[in-house]
Amino acid sequence: MNDCIFCKIVAGGIKSKIAYQDDNIVAFEDIAPQAPTHLLFIPREHVDRITEMGDAKIVSMIPKVFKAIAKVVSEKNMDSGYRVVLNQGSEAGQAVGHLHFHLLAGRRMSWPPG
Ligand code: 5GP
Ligand code: ZN
Repeated sequence: MNDCIFCKIVAGGIKSKIAYQDDNIVAFEDIAPQAPTHLLFIPREHVDRITEMGDAKIVSMIPKVFKAIAKVVSEKNMDSGYRVVLNQGSEAGQAVGHLHFHLLAGRRMSWPPG
């Protein structure tokens, strides 16, 4: 059995506020938002890290993620700025082992990230 919480969100077993979905990608509101807008974009298909995907899946999937991000960014008028974050591995702060891209917007952000 798959214990992945994001797979459960995709399947509807865990409730979330869905902001976007298509055949391949689901975006939903982060349960602990770090900015006024904080969405997580995930492939429906379970994969943990890009290094597990292989070239073919990277080339087919990652553009779909960014196409979805661009659509939401355009719809939500994030012209003043937004940030897309991918945490991979514990040292980078990855807590959920299902590939997800954070989309953060609505406040001034600092660089470098902590
Ligand atoms: P990570 O640290 O792995 O890059 O990010 C995981 C994110 O998932 C965190 O920002 C966390 O708040 C969010 N998260 C964890 N569990 C849930 C959940 O059950 N529902 C939602 N909507 N977000 C979650
Ligand atoms: Zn999963």
